[in-house]
Amino acid sequence: MFIILRNVKNIFIHFRRTVKVISLTMIAILIILGILSLFYTPMYSVTINGEFVGYTINKTKLQKRINEYIENGDEENTAFIDAEYLPEYQLCLLKKNNQTNDDEIFDIIKNSSTTYYEYYAIVEGTEEKYYVSTKENAEDIINQLKEKNSNNVSSLAYTQIHSTELKEFSDVDTVVSALYKKKVVVATSSSYSYAYADMSYSAPDIGISLIRPIDGYISSRYGMRSSGRHTGLDIAGSTGTPIMAAASGTVEKVNYSNVSYGNCVIISHGNGIETLYAHCSQIYVSVGQSVSQGETIASRGSTGNSTGPHLHFEVRVNGSTVNPQYYVYQNQ
Ligand SMILES: [Zn+2]
Repeated sequence: MFIILRNVKNIFIHFRRTVKVISLTMIAILIILGILSLFYTPMYSVTINGEFVGYTINKTKLQKRINEYIENGDEENTAFIDAEYLPEYQLCLLKKNNQTNDDEIFDIIKNSSTTYYEYYAIVEGTEEKYYVSTKENAEDIINQLKEKNSNNVSSLAYTQIHSTELKEFSDVDTVVSALYKKKVVVATSSSYSYAYADMSYSAPDIGISLIRPIDGYISSRYGMRSSGRHTGLDIAGSTGTPIMAAASGTVEKVNYSNVSYGNCVIISHGNGIETLYAHCSQIYVSVGQSVSQGETIASRGSTGNSTGPHLHFEVRVNGSTVNPQYYVYQNQ
């Protein structure tokens, strides 16, 4: 009995000692932390592409600034930013008066990024003549020249440009007066920025399967006319009906025009295969964008040289048009 009591007492004493040691240790740690926090503060050491570039105290704020730059850029006409590197952060404890380098870190990211600009070129024939900042300006120029019945109106168009190079922009009035040509004789046949390509009669293997870009009735087939070859298939129906990509690919060209093909999209499917969608009322895609098969890219309209709402659909192989009905709408 006595032995048991003594053991219990020993355990109790031991327990009290342990508690005492733990609390003393904790107090010591707190005091050390307190002193440390007087002189030291947690910061992030920043590396870019494996190279140390500086410190930041507010990682969230710096990263937010970088994200906003990448999303919107800081110049007008920025389409998007292609950032080569992003910072990596590592938490560390540094002396309070240690310098932070947020601005320098931001500048390194900015200088290693590529800015892609978006703007519009006014095209005469196949030549980019003038550049304007907005689609509205480009539309305005073409419309004004059309209203003035300028002699060259059938060869004028505007096209969306995505480039790392920013051009000097002209204002609407300057371009209109520079491009205006008085009509002297009846207009001759139009030249257009899309060259009508060579024709092909055989059905080449295009290596991909196409789906119908839209429903409707075939109002004009591919082939010879008294006026020349009809280079595509016309699918008529109501204005505004969505036009779908016949196959997946990359948007190669977006052109807005009041003449010829009107508002027009060209998609490249690789291996020299392209599809073209003309006379659109609206275009929903931009140059460089990837589209999947069946994705809505535009809507049916009657822009350009058109007498009623229809999709003029072309299939091109290495620049030559082929009969789309080799691949789609076979039984119509
Ligand atoms: Zn047509």
